Amino acid sequence: MFNFANYYYLDWTILLIIPGIIVAMWAQSKVNRAYQTYSKIPVISGITGRETASRILAANGLSNVQIAPTGGRLSDNYNPRKKTLNLSESNFSGSSVAAVAVAAHESGHAIQHGKGYFPLNLRNLIAPVVSIASYMLWPILILGLMMGFADTISIAVYIFLAIFVFQIITLPVEFNASSRALAALQSENVLTDEELYGAKKMLEAAALTYVAATLVSLLNVLRFSILSRRR
Ligand SMILES: [Zn+2]
Repeated sequence: MFNFANYYYLDWTILLIIPGIIVAMWAQSKVNRAYQTYSKIPVISGITGRETASRILAANGLSNVQIAPTGGRLSDNYNPRKKTLNLSESNFSGSSVAAVAVAAHESGHAIQHGKGYFPLNLRNLIAPVVSIASYMLWPILILGLMMGFADTISIAVYIFLAIFVFQIITLPVEFNASSRALAALQSENVLTDEELYGAKKMLEAAALTYVAATLVSLLNVLRFSILSRRR
């Protein structure tokens, strides 16, 4: 009988994933700590996340973008289909360095969308496919291996590869949104130099989580490539 545990879990190649998981956990704790620090530092101008986004959007001719509060912690995002900039409650109405930084970052995505920034368009184009593929990854792997379907591991390699490509494209999108955010905060003159430095630190920590996720995908591609060669 097929033994999934012998075949998969207890394989040495799982060791390849460990550095990625450590880096990902480290990046996550770094962003959590940065958010904890900078969400407690109020900005001197008293501007809120919502007002920050509103100013940056207006300065870029994007007054048609809606700014709305959304539930959840660090759930902030820009929705290109609905042209809505969603800010989590504490960033929407909060007036901290973190709230302003995050609002400016999401505004950076809205500006990318408004200007037709190519990596963002490419990312949005492949996002639905990659999302479906990654949902199906583990069911395919588990069922495929249990039923002894020969190409299962190869299919997993392609799915991991698709996720990796998606994350590679995400990197310039995220870094660019943050650099647009910092430039906008500087030109809008809403932060002091010290606050701007804090905003930069906050956004750098957030960007690291994307780098870590990319690393994890790369290691998964590597691992499953080795597994697929074995057969
Ligand atoms: Zn982003």
